[in-house]
Amino acid sequence: MTDIPVRVRPEIAALPPYKQGKQAGADAFKLSSNENPFDPLPGVSEAVAAASAFNRYPDATAGLLRARLAERFGVGDDEVHVGAGSVSILAQLVLATCTPGDEVIFAWRSFEAYPWLAVLAGANPVMVPLAEGARHDLDAMADAITDRTRVVIVCTPNNPTGPIVTQAEFDAFLARVPDDLLVVLDEAYAEFVTDPDAVDGVRHFAQPNVVVLRTFSKAFGLAGLRVGYAIGHPRVLDAARSTTIPLSVTAHAETAALASLDHEDELIERVRIVGERRDRLAAGLRDLGWDIPQAQGNFVWLATGEQTTDVAEAFDTGGLIVRAFAGDGIRISVGEEESVEKVLGIAASVVKDLPEGHPARRLA
Ligand SMILES: *Cc1c(COP(=O)(O)O)cnc(C)c1O
Repeated sequence: MTDIPVRVRPEIAALPPYKQGKQAGADAFKLSSNENPFDPLPGVSEAVAAASAFNRYPDATAGLLRARLAERFGVGDDEVHVGAGSVSILAQLVLATCTPGDEVIFAWRSFEAYPWLAVLAGANPVMVPLAEGARHDLDAMADAITDRTRVVIVCTPNNPTGPIVTQAEFDAFLARVPDDLLVVLDEAYAEFVTDPDAVDGVRHFAQPNVVVLRTFSKAFGLAGLRVGYAIGHPRVLDAARSTTIPLSVTAHAETAALASLDHEDELIERVRIVGERRDRLAAGLRDLGWDIPQAQGNFVWLATGEQTTDVAEAFDTGGLIVRAFAGDGIRISVGEEESVEKVLGIAASVVKDLPEGHPARRLA
């Protein structure tokens, strides 16, 4: 690799250049980004098309959407912050809390953006290994807190492995966390959760050191428009707002989110369909001999370990674009109905090639 021609922070220079997941060919199913397989709802597309003032800047605070979300969740407008995707809000929170040498704790493996967001802020990522069942180990995460810790991120359901954190686990965890330490509850897949024991961010809106992150990208199907939100203490959100690149939430994203909330019933019906498909996919994989962790998002996880690249290639050859994490596992999004049989077909043949006793295989 050639050297960077200008002086760059060494930790930034050390990052691998960003590589987006593969784009799907015409007849392939793209199951690599946890996107919603449905086309936008008619009312949503129309509302966006009607909001055509491209020559005007948007409202910097997305005030209408904030007010609408505040009403929906029974909080004040200033307890809601809208960003260009919830990842950008997470970046703001890390920037607002961390100085170089501070620590950001999260589970690993979890969302790929977490280590990178810590590094961007000059902070040290502290990655706490997942426990049995690819679940968060909240005790170990609490143990990892030091006086340099500024943020703990809890991802539930965990991307890419799928299990939820329970309400009881989260409550016990919060009881161990210092009052002035920010806990971010990343609930990007909250709408897909069916486990009644799962933590619900709504119960923590009044807790001053907890910020709940949700997004319109997954269940609401607006990934391409970039809009997500945080609910938390107004002064914590003010700190995040101070680090925001102004005007990054477009009027079209705001309009689409508002229109989606108008059509929430139809969207929830689609979420139910995706959830049912997910359960069928997970059950089918287990029947084939795969050991699948609890799947509560819109994706399933195959712990393929050393065989990851080979297995991913088999899916790729079969016309399925999946997300492979080399040496670790494969995340497959729940996509179109026809993709389910295709996933199961390929999964049936590759499971036989895994060595006896492989962790991705169920014990007979
Ligand atoms: C997809 C995702 C997000 C949200 O992404 P945005 O499109 O930026 O809203 C946040 N956290 C996790 C764990 C995700 O998987």
